Parts: sequence; structure tokens; C-alpha cells
Amino acid sequence: MAATTARGAVLRGFHQPLEIDAAEIPAPGPGAVVARITLAGICGTDIHLSHGNLPIPTPLVLGHEAVGVVAALGEGVTTDFSGNPLAVGDAITWTSSIPCGRCHWCVVEGERTLCETRRIYGINQRWDVAPHLSGGFAEAIYLQPGSAIFKLPAGVTPEMVISLGCAGPTAYHGVVDLTGVKPGETVLVQGAGPVGIAAAMFAHLSGAAQVLIVGGPQERLDLARRMHVGTDWLDIFSVTDPAERLKWVMERTPHGRGADVVLECTGVPTAVQEGMDAARRNGKMLVLGQYTDRGTTPINPHVITKKQLTMIGSWAFSERHYLGYMANLPAMQERFGLDPMITRYRLEDVNAAMADMATGKVMKPVLVM
Ligand SMILES: [Zn+2]
Ligand SMILES: [Zn+2]
Repeated sequence: MAATTARGAVLRGFHQPLEIDAAEIPAPGPGAVVARITLAGICGTDIHLSHGNLPIPTPLVLGHEAVGVVAALGEGVTTDFSGNPLAVGDAITWTSSIPCGRCHWCVVEGERTLCETRRIYGINQRWDVAPHLSGGFAEAIYLQPGSAIFKLPAGVTPEMVISLGCAGPTAYHGVVDLTGVKPGETVLVQGAGPVGIAAAMFAHLSGAAQVLIVGGPQERLDLARRMHVGTDWLDIFSVTDPAERLKWVMERTPHGRGADVVLECTGVPTAVQEGMDAARRNGKMLVLGQYTDRGTTPINPHVITKKQLTMIGSWAFSERHYLGYMANLPAMQERFGLDPMITRYRLEDVNAAMADMATGKVMKPVLVM
């Protein structure tokens, strides 16, 4: 007999521990799908959200990266987003946001991540409003009509999908789709969290000759080294002087010119100037890590002009980036091995998992339902 209620970890207010609560699992309406969640990833953004760094509603079940199994299909749902037949029991994943599909940003610009009314699981869907189950840190989720649901392709496991979480498609969007890394280039990745690791992986797959990772803490750099992600690593907690870090990067770039491409994946505003300083003249810099608003930072715009830098911003991801991410997973699995990214926790230990993410002690905490 299938469970009729599902537990979820609820954020009731900022700077508070999550509380386990339960809600009834509704039957899916037309166009909707109910999924039993099997694995849910915890993202750095969840930590920032729990601190109120974006204007989100509470109470809320956090969690915008998950994989699950189809529990029930609403009327009219016969296929996934790509047209593959969908049945109860199929392993699926889904994009975290549902863009409106009708606005200027969705239609004219074709940039669905910029849709101002997009609904986002685990970020702007309230727990106290039906269908309640709208976040990943729960045993079930109600996937609303319009959700981009993907049956896992052959050769892609739930563990592979969750190993990079939202960082995978986010990095695909920023690094592959918007910035572009050419074979032979020297790439500086700032940040050694999941976004930095995913960005470094895409830099490798794009043919970068060198991938320098400047981040921390040491545990994360050690993991990156073991997985052969990056070609050289600098721990920002042991080298705290930005001038020393700049010197370290410059010494490793051809003729000391600076990095061809800088990928900022830190979530720390001061990293932006540091990245600009490390970029070569006529280089490119992607600012990818500032998903939540951590405030302003002094930068010297003269550097952008004088070096003729191309500065690029990239916000979240849409359906095509998710597909791009999944298409690359078998290659990433073969080259790096993705399972070491994951540290597993039970739903009731969600606050310990959040704390381990906040300190960077683990790379990708995953709730196993
Ligand atoms: Zn995220
Ligand atoms: Zn829209």
C-alpha cells in the first residue's frame, strides 16, 4: 500500500533549523505528476536562502535538485519533456523552475531563466499552500503542469544526476552555452564547491590545457585532486593574501599573461575583482557564483576597459541546459567518477547536512529518502 502522506523539511523562518512536518500526497490533476523522491541534493544556495539572502516566502520546503520515481500521472501526461513514454515507476528528474512561456523574456529574448514569474520548486512555492509538496527535501513532490520532467536516459543513474545537483546544468549554461572554453586554453576556476567543480569539469571536457582551481577548504581541493578535476589547486584558507594568490595564478599562465578564461563560482562578492585581476588582456570572465544577493563590493572598472575584458553573467538554467548536462554525464562519470562527490544523510538529519554544506566539509550532501 502506497503512503498517503509524505514528510518534508520545512523552513519556517530565516536562521532557524528546518523542521520535519508531513503533508497529504495529493492525486495529480490534469497535466501534473506526483513523484516519490529518492535522492535530494543540498546546494549552497539552500544555506543562503535559509539566511534570507533572497526574498523567498516561508514556510517553505527547500530543495531544488532531486531525482525520483513516478508515483502517479495526471490526466493527459503520457511522455516526458523529450517525448519519451512515461509510466509509473520510471526514474525521473526535473528542472527546478517552470517559466511562464508567454512573457517577453521567455518568448522574445528566448531566455527562460530570466522569466520574472517563473515558479521554482524549493524556492518560491509555499508549504502552507496546496499542493504543499513543492520542494526537494521531502519524500514526495507534486510536479505542476508545465514542469520539464526527464526520464533518466540509458547510462545515467540517479546518483550521477544528483552528484552535481543544480551546479551541473548551471555550469553548463554559464561555461558551455555562454562563455565557451577553447581547446588549449588556461582556465581559472574560483571556488571549489559543486559549481566550481562542475565548471572545472566542463572546462576539461571543452579541451582546456590547464584548469587552475583557487578555492577551499582543503577537503574540497583534495577531493578535486583525487577526481582529477583541475590541474593545480590553491587553498584560499592557507593563502589568504589576494596578491599572493594572483602571483600563483600568473606564474601558471603562459608568459604570465593571465588566464584566458576566469570562471567565478564562489558566491563571495570580493572574488569578482580578484578574478578580473587574474584574467589576461582580451580575456573572458564569467560571474556565475553570485546566485543570492550577498551585497556590493568595490571593483575597479578601469581593469575591464584597459584589459578589454568580456564580462559575462549567467543565471540558473533552463530545459536545454538540463538536457546538455545529462548528455555529458556519462562522459563525466567515465573521466572523473562522480560518486565521491556525494555524502549521504537521512531526511531527519537534514540540519546536520545543511551545517556540513555551510562549512564546506562535504561537497554534495544528499538526502536519501
Ligand atoms: Zn542550487
Ligand atoms: Zn516568462
